[in-house]
Amino acid sequence: MLAEARARAALTQRTIRQTVTLDGVGLHTGAPVQVRLEAAAPGSGIVFVRRDRPGTAPIAAVVDAVSDTRRGVTLGGGEGVTVATVEHLLSAAAGLGIDNLRVDLDGPELPALDGSAAGFVRALEEAGAVEQKVAARVIVLGVTEVAEGRGRAGTRPAEEFRVTYTVDLPAPLGEQSASAGLDAYHEAVAPARTWGFAEEGAALRARGLARGAGLENVLVIGPGGYLTPPRFPDEPARHKILDVIGDLALLGARLRGHVEVAYGGHALHLALAREIVRRWGETRQEMGEG
Ligand SMILES: [Zn+2]
Repeated sequence: MLAEARARAALTQRTIRQTVTLDGVGLHTGAPVQVRLEAAAPGSGIVFVRRDRPGTAPIAAVVDAVSDTRRGVTLGGGEGVTVATVEHLLSAAAGLGIDNLRVDLDGPELPALDGSAAGFVRALEEAGAVEQKVAARVIVLGVTEVAEGRGRAGTRPAEEFRVTYTVDLPAPLGEQSASAGLDAYHEAVAPARTWGFAEEGAALRARGLARGAGLENVLVIGPGGYLTPPRFPDEPARHKILDVIGDLALLGARLRGHVEVAYGGHALHLALAREIVRRWGETRQEMGEG
């Protein structure tokens, strides 16, 4: 009965109560950036505004706005204006059930913070949530699968949203799998950091990328395993759960069903998102308690 009441209550759109700001440095640009999170009207979804590029159109966090998935997700508006590395903020919003948000920033990339979604979760919690008395969009997932090379991403029906993710790491770490629902998001998913391989980091820096990355915000994997203590033994698999929740937030809807991914990345997550739109894009509008 409690679970039923919670499920009903969760079907109402939500935004934040008050404006909060966050400061940090972009993972790739290394450039300082300030983000202001503001309330947004029902039905507006999550929208990015580049206040350093006045007069340019807001960029909606939707699947069709994705312009690059190679190192994080970049959204492109018209006029060549982009916003990079949006996935951890989108993940935090989805994890906390925030549907509508205006994200005002003064640079081209969201801050890396500690490499996880924990800082965005803290900011959203500080802002507080407001029920908007308008039905949330809900997509009820059926059975489907997409593949890219060795990667597989699929969905199947389930009462609650859940993600299971398998990653394959070089020895001695090997394959690891993690699974979480939104009830575990705060404790078990949000703190999991971005991870990468030591040699890849050097190559990225040589190309002028990963300028804001360091051992404090990236869990680096070397030939002997983790270079620094992980927050969880399976932190890489948990971070992938964080990422796919953020990428699927581009659907602009709550999801009901089980998402399973193996050996994936942002490109595969977006392929799954497009498949979900193709199959179940006519989303059900469900009324909340009102
Ligand atoms: Zn990530």
